[in-house]
Amino acid sequence: MQKLQLTLAIIKPHAVKNPVALSFIRNVIKNKFIVIKTKRVSLDKEAAGKFYSEHVGKFFYNRLVTFMTSGSVDLHIMGHCNAIELWRRMLGPTSVYKGQFQEPYCLRGMFGISDTRNVAHGSDSPPSAEREIKFFFPEFSFYQWHNGHEVLYRKGPIIFNDHLFEHVRKL
Ligand code: ADP
Ligand code: MG
Repeated sequence: MQKLQLTLAIIKPHAVKNPVALSFIRNVIKNKFIVIKTKRVSLDKEAAGKFYSEHVGKFFYNRLVTFMTSGSVDLHIMGHCNAIELWRRMLGPTSVYKGQFQEPYCLRGMFGISDTRNVAHGSDSPPSAEREIKFFFPEFSFYQWHNGHEVLYRKGPIIFNDHLFEHVRKL
């Protein structure tokens, strides 16, 4: 089995508030990925604005920041040999309407409600994943990940802890 790549998923506020969407999304996440860390947070304008700083000046920036601060978000560090591409493929196109038309079974097509409220975020490259994980999980050690933890998760045995919504090593 190839090395585990990490990606960051953010389940956006409207999906966290919708129990049907959230349980569906959580099921696909825990079945397809190794969930390394999970936490639920409420972002303030400063954090959301900084996280999306690449979009400063675009017409949707303010509405994006307002939306991302409108309720809790779930953050997941997820591992898979192809985590970044797989998660973005499962999400589907950024545009929910495009998703509904082209790939009706992608998560954005199924649970998205507008171009802004498009269900979830996924890192778009390995450097973005590392930057975004550091942004939300400053306590996560990439050094430890690369020097021991990665192989332990990859080779197992691991079990899923429903309460933490994380895979943990079976001791
Ligand atoms: P992605 O989340 O697919 O990587 P982007 O990085 O381009 O997409 O945009 C970040 C987020 O900004 C999107 O997930 C979506 O919530 C919002 N967004 C992007 N484009 C638009 C748009 N044309 N209209 C409204 N909101 C948008
Ligand atoms: Mg993006």
